[in-house]
Amino acid sequence: MKVLVINCGSSSLKYQVLDMRKETLMCKGLVERIGMEGSVLTQEKIGVDEKKVIETPIADHKVAMKQVIAALLDQDYGVLKDLEEVGAVGHRVVHAGERYSESVLIDNSVIEVLKECIELAPLHNPPNLLGINACRELMPNVPMVAVFDTAFHQTMPPESYIYAIPYKYYDKYRIRRYGFHGTSHKYVAERAAILLGVSLYDLKLITCHLGNGASVSAIKRGRCIDTSMGFTPLSGLAMGTRSGSVDPAIIQFVAEKEKKTMEEVLDILNKESGMLGVSGVSSDFRDLDEEVQNGNVRAELALKVFAHRVRYYIGAYYLEMNGLDGIVFTAGVGENDTTMREIICNELGNLGIKLDLVKNKVRGREAIISRDDSRVSIMMIPTNEELMIARDTYNIARNMGFDPAK
Ligand code: AMP
Repeated sequence: MKVLVINCGSSSLKYQVLDMRKETLMCKGLVERIGMEGSVLTQEKIGVDEKKVIETPIADHKVAMKQVIAALLDQDYGVLKDLEEVGAVGHRVVHAGERYSESVLIDNSVIEVLKECIELAPLHNPPNLLGINACRELMPNVPMVAVFDTAFHQTMPPESYIYAIPYKYYDKYRIRRYGFHGTSHKYVAERAAILLGVSLYDLKLITCHLGNGASVSAIKRGRCIDTSMGFTPLSGLAMGTRSGSVDPAIIQFVAEKEKKTMEEVLDILNKESGMLGVSGVSSDFRDLDEEVQNGNVRAELALKVFAHRVRYYIGAYYLEMNGLDGIVFTAGVGENDTTMREIICNELGNLGIKLDLVKNKVRGREAIISRDDSRVSIMMIPTNEELMIARDTYNIARNMGFDPAK
């Protein structure tokens, strides 16, 4: 069965086609600037060097989906002869509230739940829904599966997800910690167990998804018991442009001093803070590494703030799980920034966490990067959220009796 994976943002649509017989990626693509001037579709067929770039007006997500289908079917650069070859479509959906702890086959009742969750993820769920609706219209007979960023974290115990604010706000408005990046945390935890040759159900893991957005999770015997992001993806670690957790009183203080509204201050916390805010130069860790080489002390401070927060969560989760078998680094920074991994793991030997500075030089492939005498295994595992989405989609479609031979 071939599975199409769709990840819709407000003005973008990322997609992949995977052949699930051997879980091989056939092609991937990206539609950018949907509803704006200069819309462009870029498609990369695996095994072919040249990317196909199509510049064409794309007014909305339905037009974007039509363009994707045309590109997939193209005789020269496409990978499908007939749309019928797609056995199922998997959609990345950010927020499922407390309703789903696993991926689900999409029907009208699921759509209603996703609509109810819009108030919890006003930036993310609406474009996710646009993508789902466009696909349902254009491929009405193909099963569609929703895979949620929040689902993996639904196993957290109440003491992890309840905020110490009046309980009625949880009852009335569902204000609680939800957590995000769940598909990535789950994927790397499963890979870590395979890499270590130990059942996931016998492991205590801390997974560090360190990208532009970043979060850390505590995974005890396969279940997430805590995670650093909260009610929204703004909390927890300092990130590229997001502040992470700050004293909430700062919001009112800055609003008053700078004559800004609450929305404007929140916008600053989301878009002008984190590495960009502290360094004053960039949200990109590559730029910051370069700045540090040139003696920029604020860039150095930003990176130290980032590492400090990650270490803080590693310490907290080590205690919460009463022990630790493995730490996983993943996503753009976690996979590539060897210096950041070094700073994070520096002087944790007393906790049994010892990074091997030579093994740590690895990039682009899964590896154990701790010293042989490290009690805790440190691992670098490239994340693959699309494969996880495709797997769930394939399994659900197969279990529902859709033709696996397709
Ligand atoms: P992601 O959100 O997972 O795509 O991660 C994106 C971030 O990874 C970028 O903003 C960069 O800061 C970081 N990144 C990517 N490649 C490198 C690299 N070679 N060294 C350091 N940071 C990197």
